[in-house]
Amino acid sequence: MNILIIEDEYSLADAVAETLKNENFNVTIKTNGEDGEDEALTENYDLILLDVMLPKKNGFEILNYLRQEKIKTPVIMLTAKSEIEDKLNGLENGADDYITKPFSMRELMARVKAVLKRTNNIEDTNCLEFGDLALDVRNAKLKCNDNEIQISGKELELLEQFLLNKNQVLSRENLVERIWGYESDAEYNNVEVYITFIRRKLKVIESKVCIKAVRGVGYKLVVEVNEK
Ligand code: CA
Repeated sequence: MNILIIEDEYSLADAVAETLKNENFNVTIKTNGEDGEDEALTENYDLILLDVMLPKKNGFEILNYLRQEKIKTPVIMLTAKSEIEDKLNGLENGADDYITKPFSMRELMARVKAVLKRTNNIEDTNCLEFGDLALDVRNAKLKCNDNEIQISGKELELLEQFLLNKNQVLSRENLVERIWGYESDAEYNNVEVYITFIRRKLKVIESKVCIKAVRGVGYKLVVEVNEK
């Protein structure tokens, strides 16, 4: 798979490229906005890692232009913490995910793989499974054996995160960032509210899967074992 990195910090771009190459990706680096945009418009990439503050043309301008030109290549924005809130609209307008600098290479790889899985492997992600649970992404339905129940958009997004990151504890911060795109106390409560909704629905369809709270850390999807 081919990944384009548009990033003007050479050392960061190189470090990211090295990590991706070790995972057998082909990597191209562009270090200013204009070159990056030209490359994204003319070559076929599976994913673009796009910095925000770039010489000649910034990341949000590039993203807007690509989407305007119907280039659907998934984009993960690389942003500084301070750039997030006022650029939220930009993020909602076509980025698939974003990662806040400084980030670990492990975190980056997790995001890259999640986005690629979500966007490339359509058959896989139309139906996500865990234990006795199946999530029909296209129709927003949660199924267990012969039972099924309709879920809302946010419930779907939350469940997708859990099912794409099986066996991982997802923090509230992480869920808020991925689903609402920024942090605030109100949004933390939203996560809890939606998790309560989802738990109720899991009970309704009689699934053995449940969302377990991991104290002080976050939430994890587990299969409940009946103790007799
Ligand atoms: Ca930069």
